[in-house]
Amino acid sequence: MADPMSSAPQIPSAILPTYARADVAFARGDGCWLEATDGSRYLDFGAGIAVCCLGHGHPHLVEALIDQGRKLWHVSNLFRIPEAELLAKRLTDASFADYVFFTNSGAEALEGAIKTARKYHAVGGHPEKFRLITFEGAFHGRTLATIAAGGNPKYIDGFGPKVEGFDPVPFGDLVAVKAAITPETAGVLVEPIQGEGGIRVPPSSFMRGLRALCDEHGLMLVVDEVQSGMGRTGKLFAHELVGVTPDILATAKGIGGGFPLGAFMATRESGRGMIVGTHGSTYGGNPLATACGNAVLDVVLAPGFLDDVARKGLALKQRLAALQDAHPQIIAEIRGEGMMLGIRTHVPNTEFAVAARAQHMLVIPAGDNVVRLLPPLIAGEEEFAEAIARLDRACRHLEADLAGKRNGSSS
Ligand SMILES: *Cc1c(COP(=O)(O)O)cnc(C)c1O
Repeated sequence: MADPMSSAPQIPSAILPTYARADVAFARGDGCWLEATDGSRYLDFGAGIAVCCLGHGHPHLVEALIDQGRKLWHVSNLFRIPEAELLAKRLTDASFADYVFFTNSGAEALEGAIKTARKYHAVGGHPEKFRLITFEGAFHGRTLATIAAGGNPKYIDGFGPKVEGFDPVPFGDLVAVKAAITPETAGVLVEPIQGEGGIRVPPSSFMRGLRALCDEHGLMLVVDEVQSGMGRTGKLFAHELVGVTPDILATAKGIGGGFPLGAFMATRESGRGMIVGTHGSTYGGNPLATACGNAVLDVVLAPGFLDDVARKGLALKQRLAALQDAHPQIIAEIRGEGMMLGIRTHVPNTEFAVAARAQHMLVIPAGDNVVRLLPPLIAGEEEFAEAIARLDRACRHLEADLAGKRNGSSS
């Protein structure tokens, strides 16, 4: 039978046009590679924006999905769900948290994390403490509360009154955080490494300073590890890199390996307000999603896997530093931790991403004129060598364009 997608979408799309999409569609994937509907192959260093943490078609994930799919897809949270209880137990055993609530997305996880921080103070007799200190350049999702928390006017404008209770200060600025604390402050909401903001890694003293300020003022430290979590940085969660323990955490993206799943997690103390009836989600943590989550953890928590991510990430970063040395006109800086890496470019980052795509390699633009490299965590030497070769060719083309422009403007 002819593949109905083989001649790509020629009809006008009926999808609400909120994305500026590249005119490429993919039909299948295998490991770090995607095959487009025209049969051409792309090296995928975006992984669906850090979602496909074990690449495409990972046999263990495929088996878990099919196996659970044959048994049971969904039951309501009005009943016990053994797959979810197992996943929650494994996540709490491997982290600071005592409780997990499963969601369907990162933004939904953030909503729950924000509610948990507010409720903690409300049940402690301080309902006036509902504000969270947030950071410029942050991204927390596209729901009404999370656009307010992210603070980007492009995402806020035109959607009615901004949700109250978020006080942005410059990222990395402890003095500003301290000055922003008021009697209404419930906590601090922070990405340990800003993802959409451009792989911005604060000094380790920043996260430690936030922990100290939260302890001093009785505030909740809420970390958004939707992008940096689930092994991306070589630790299960990025806050472990700097030895700081949060009170509440939101995660998603990699947690389902491509199946929509998210979670917020809390210590017993910080989750004290979230009792029967305070929160819910129809799909959240259903058997199919949490079976996929368990399969991801089988791989990510296997002995040596995370150390390997850290080691491979460092190797990739060193290769990228060499690429920068070879192309100083194009590449300004290499940044990031583990396999959450960024290339800050001198040319517009979107042009760099287009040039990489012309070499059949996928990277993802972010803030600060950065392109992100978020390869599947299973990528290794072979894929890195291929990636560097493709990025090297992309840089050569961009250099040729620059030279052409210079010649053009001097004549
Ligand atoms: C992607 C992302 C979100 C939002 O996740 P969605 O699944 O798109 O709702 C929130 N926070 C961070 C740090 C993210 O990277």
